[in-house]
Amino acid sequence: MTGEDFRELMDAMADPLVACDGDERVLYLNPAAERMLGWKLEELKGQPFARLLPERMHSFDGQSFLRYLLGRRRALGGRPVRAFLLCHEGPELEAEVTVGTSKEGSEERITLVLRRLPEFPDYTDEPLERLLSSVAHPRGPYPGAAGTRAYQLVFENAPLGLFHFDTTPILVACNEYFVRIIGASKRRLIGLNLFSLQDESITHCVRDVLAGRHAYYEGDYHAVTSGKVTPVRTHFAPCFNEKGQVEGGVGIVEDVTEQRSVQAERDRLFREAQEAIRVRDDFLTIASHELKTPLTPLSLRLASLERRLERKEPVDPTLLRHARQHLVRLAALINDLLDASRIEAGRLALHFEPTRLEAIVERALTSMDSERGQHRIDYSHPAESVRIRGDPYRLEQVFANLLENALKYSPADSTVRVTLDVRGDFALLSVADEGIGIPRDQQEQLFERYFRARNVSVTSYGGLGLGLYISRDIVERHGGRIWVESEVGRGATFYVALPLLSAANPTPPDPRPTTGSPQQVH
Ligand code: ADP
Repeated sequence: MTGEDFRELMDAMADPLVACDGDERVLYLNPAAERMLGWKLEELKGQPFARLLPERMHSFDGQSFLRYLLGRRRALGGRPVRAFLLCHEGPELEAEVTVGTSKEGSEERITLVLRRLPEFPDYTDEPLERLLSSVAHPRGPYPGAAGTRAYQLVFENAPLGLFHFDTTPILVACNEYFVRIIGASKRRLIGLNLFSLQDESITHCVRDVLAGRHAYYEGDYHAVTSGKVTPVRTHFAPCFNEKGQVEGGVGIVEDVTEQRSVQAERDRLFREAQEAIRVRDDFLTIASHELKTPLTPLSLRLASLERRLERKEPVDPTLLRHARQHLVRLAALINDLLDASRIEAGRLALHFEPTRLEAIVERALTSMDSERGQHRIDYSHPAESVRIRGDPYRLEQVFANLLENALKYSPADSTVRVTLDVRGDFALLSVADEGIGIPRDQQEQLFERYFRARNVSVTSYGGLGLGLYISRDIVERHGGRIWVESEVGRGATFYVALPLLSAANPTPPDPRPTTGSPQQVH
C-alpha cells in the first residue's frame, strides 16, 4: 500500500485517528478526529502532541503521556484507556484512547485511535464495566465485578465509597456508594487513569500508595464531567501481593458534607457565644466605669460637707447640689439597668391615660435644665394641644433620653432643635442635634441592648447603651415608631411617632417625615 492509499484509508475511517512521529509531533489528523477535537490538520501539523493534553497530563511518572501508554501496552493488551483531551476552544473532552506504534523505514510512527465517551452517563452499562475491569487488570476480572457473591455483597453494600486501582494506575472497580459520592457513572469511572485527575493532591496520594505508603486526602472533589463538588475524606492504602509487592491500591471515601455543615454550625455557634461573651465583658467594663464615676466625686463632696459641718462652717449649697446631681445620675443608671431587665422579662408596666403630649415634652425639657450648659434648645409645637393616650412618666423618660443624648453627643455651643408636630393620625416629635452623628452601618443596631456606636469612646461619652433600647420598647408599646436619620459629623435627628387619641386605627407613618435621605425604621 502506498502512502497515498494509506492516507485515503485513514481519511475514510469513521474512528478519530491521530498519527505522530517518534518525537511526538503531530503528522496527521483524520477528518473524524478534526470533527471530534475541533482542530484542523494544518493547525496541528508539526505541533507537539502535548498540545492536545491538559497540562496535568503532560507527564506520567516522568514520561510523556504517549511513552507512558506505549510502555503499558502489554498490560493493557491493546485496549483503550480513559484520558482527557483538549479541544480547539479549550474545553476538555473525555475519550478512550488506544495507542500503537510502527516503523515506516527507520522512522517511528505513533498512532492513536480515539473514541469519544457519551455526554450523558449511562448508569447501567454492566457489560462494559466487566469488560473494562478485566481489560485494565491483566490478571483477570476484578472479584468485585465478576468474582464471588460474598465479595460483591460486601463491596457493594459497604456504607463507604470504595475503589480499587492497579499499578497503571487505572481505576478497575468501585462500588455504588463511590459512584453516588463522585456523581459520575461507573461507565465513566472504571478505566479512568487516576494520574489524569485535576487535583494534584489526589495524584500525590496515588503515587504514595504505589510506593507502598498509606495516604490521606481531604478536600472538595470536583467531578470533571458532571461538575459536582463533594467534600470528601479519603484513606488510600496500598494492596500487596503474596510476594509483598505493591499491586495497586484501595481507597475508602467518606462524604463529609454533613460533618462539614455540622462543623460550620458549630463554628457559627462558637462565634456567637464569643460575641455574647465580648458584649457581656464590654458591658461589665462600661457599667462598672459608669457606676463608679459619680461615686468618687460624691464621696469627696460628702466628706467636705462633713468636715464643714463638724467645724460648724457655713455649707455651700452648690456642694449639696452637685452631690445630688451625682446621686441622680447613679439612680438613673440603676433605673436603666432595672428597666432593661424588666423589658427582657416582659415586666415593664405601662399605665395608659389620655394625656397632652406637649406637656410631657415640656417636662422633659425642664428636667434637662441642669444639663443644658451652653447648648441652645429651640422648641416648636403646634398651637393646639396634641392629645394622645399614653404613659406620661415613661414617655417623658423617652424624650428626656433623646434630649440627653442630643446634648451629650454634640458640641457645647451648638443648637438642639425639638419639634412637635401632627402628621395625619400621628404626633411626631423630632430631636435634631449638630453633633458627631452615627455611622450608617451601625444605625440599625442603635436600638439594641447595650449597643453603643463605635464613634463614641467610653472615656469621652459615658453611657450604658440602654436608653434607646428602653425607648424603643416604650414607643412601640404605644403603637408608635422610633427611628433616626444621621450622617457622621453632621448631627443626628431622632423621630418618635405616636398615635393621636382621636385616631381610630392608626398605622405608624412611613418614616420619611422631612428629608429625602435614607433613614432607619424601628
Ligand atoms: P448611651 O447614650 O447611654 O450609650 P443610648 O441607648 O441612649 O445609650 O444610645 C445608644 C448609642 O447611640 C450611643 O452610645 C451612641 O453611640 C448613639 N447615639 C444616641 N444618640 C446619639 C446622638 N444624638 N448623636 C450621636 N450618637 C448617638
